[in-house]
Amino acid sequence: MPIRIMVVEDEDLMREAIAVSLRAAGFEVTTACDAETCVARMRVDPVDVVILDLGLPGMSGLTLARTLREGASVGLLVVSRRAEPETRIAALDLGVDDYLVKPIHFGELAARVRSLMRRRGPPPRTRVGRWVIDIAARTARAGDEVADLTRGEFDLLALLAAAGGKIVSREDLLRAISKTPHDSDLRSVDALVSRIRRKLGRPSPGGDLIQTAPGFGYRLNQAELRE
Ligand code: CA
Repeated sequence: MPIRIMVVEDEDLMREAIAVSLRAAGFEVTTACDAETCVARMRVDPVDVVILDLGLPGMSGLTLARTLREGASVGLLVVSRRAEPETRIAALDLGVDDYLVKPIHFGELAARVRSLMRRRGPPPRTRVGRWVIDIAARTARAGDEVADLTRGEFDLLALLAAAGGKIVSREDLLRAISKTPHDSDLRSVDALVSRIRRKLGRPSPGGDLIQTAPGFGYRLNQAELRE
């Protein structure tokens, strides 16, 4: 799955320029004009990295960084006009991962995001039932047995694994496996889940490894999840 980034910047031209350059570098990019929008969206649909301006209307960038850092392990990268060491130190001490001073080089920004994601290390493995889902290797293994999953099946399983047993909506699952999601394709999510269930074999004593949340989505069986 591509790395997902949210750009929080109130200057329209800068926001769009950053978004366009990162999309061209292969990232999946959303944007927000202020910190409040970012916080609200992160609650329902978190991204991997937030690129934030410091001078924002309403909640400041530093407060945003503090708020996001409390909540999750998201990568934080500041892009600001403010070059003075005091501000950079304050941001880094708050838990910001990196700091670039405007004007920035877009190629460097993309490289910094990649570097940040490398430092954060490979995504963890998830165990569900007898299966170990390895995001980096893109495999689901049970001992010597490797599940024969297609790309779409693995992407869907990986998204469920990343959610750690929380319910993931069929819409979100569809977005992850399809470039042009339409409501009518929601059934393809159900079909993929059926195929994954079949390939992962017999249900565990605790029930199906992928559980259905009727009318909403799916989740991995929490009783079967381990570190
Ligand atoms: Ca600004």
